[in-house]
Amino acid sequence: MDPKIFRAYDVRGIYGQDIDVLDAAKIGAAFAEIIGSGTVSVGRDVRLSSQPLAHAFMAGAAANGLRVGDAGLVPTPMLYFSVANGSLEGGAMVTASHNPKEYNGMKFCREKALSFSYESGIKEMARRCLSPGFSFRSGACGEIESKKGLEDEYLDYLLRDVDQRCGMDVLVEVGNGCCAMVGRVLSRMGCKVSLMNPDPDGRFPNGTVNPAKEETVKALKEEVLRRKADIGVALDVDGDRVCFVDEKGLWTQGDVAFAIIAEPILEKERNAEVVADVRTSRAVIERLRDLGGRIRFSRVGHSYIANAVIGSEAKIGGELSGHIYIHDRYYGYDDGIYATVRMIETLASKGETLSEAKSKIRKMSSSPEVRVEFPEELKFRAVANISETLKKEGIEVNELDGVRADFERGWFSIRASNTEPCLVLRMEGEDEPSLQEMASRAYGLVIEAGRKLGHDPSFL
Ligand SMILES: [Zn+2]
Repeated sequence: MDPKIFRAYDVRGIYGQDIDVLDAAKIGAAFAEIIGSGTVSVGRDVRLSSQPLAHAFMAGAAANGLRVGDAGLVPTPMLYFSVANGSLEGGAMVTASHNPKEYNGMKFCREKALSFSYESGIKEMARRCLSPGFSFRSGACGEIESKKGLEDEYLDYLLRDVDQRCGMDVLVEVGNGCCAMVGRVLSRMGCKVSLMNPDPDGRFPNGTVNPAKEETVKALKEEVLRRKADIGVALDVDGDRVCFVDEKGLWTQGDVAFAIIAEPILEKERNAEVVADVRTSRAVIERLRDLGGRIRFSRVGHSYIANAVIGSEAKIGGELSGHIYIHDRYYGYDDGIYATVRMIETLASKGETLSEAKSKIRKMSSSPEVRVEFPEELKFRAVANISETLKKEGIEVNELDGVRADFERGWFSIRASNTEPCLVLRMEGEDEPSLQEMASRAYGLVIEAGRKLGHDPSFL
């Protein structure tokens, strides 16, 4: 088995090359050893390789003693729902999220849908799978049964206390993924719904949607304008991430959508805790604080933020990448479909368009995330180096994850990627010139750190 498939928050690789069905069976067996005993749920996305991988994983998990519920073809959040709502011991989802069709992998969770990070599960799984003494247990067979009625249960739960007269005209890009049932959800909310590319197709003939990348929702932006829809929604293949397009055809960054959905939650409970990662826009943080939110910063990364929300009293968490974790009338895991429900409910109850809601958040000039190739063995030293340099200049830095330095007219964050050999930068300024200044300072620091460590970083 190739050790590089075990990553910061999941398992991932090219099917048939890095990961195959035998690996999936072993991973299932190792998952069973880590969970111990009880019942888990297993789902899969639309990829052509997902069914064989899921079946092999379930066989391995059952061979090593777990009872397994086969949830079948479902969005990731519906799998999390089956775990949290069914009080199961854990779950696994076979998916490679927005990655191209050749890829596949798995995400794992424990009870309440608490996520496996490298430290809290994946590392242990790798150790077990790669150990020469690995074996399937004999004489400990669990059962595999198919889960019936999960979709209806999930939909009823999402809508159980939502006003069903929202009446918006909604266009959803499903991207041939697993989330076409969002149409049923929104219809039941009283919306007029049209779906783009609703049929599951693991070959992704229309490309894959990445809610963090505006260019992947170009067709949706055009269609929103052409059809004069009130709002556009794009879900990634497995439905844990979402992004929104306003009625003017403009894309909405993930942290801005998070602040809009947080508004009624904070109006109801001022002083509630809100989890944000260190890349969050200054304007979004100000907005959340104005609404009375108590901000708790988290390291960047799905498992860190998910567990910070699920395992605490926090009411909501959000990430730039489009993961929104709602822990108000809900379980706290990231669910793009439920975030859509709450976005529509928020706008409908306030009688606002999305662009009006966005206008309440101060406009800043911000960069998307920029990745700079940097060798694996040097990336953390580079960040430490940059932090030293800034401190020597007397600049206060937030070192929760990499460095974030705030200045009067803007800020930048530089951190080592958890999954790739690169540094990840984000910058923001009060206006375009301030953004440029932040960018040149951040790039300057990266180049200088590279020079000190004998590496010439080429900007990706
Ligand atoms: Zn996803």
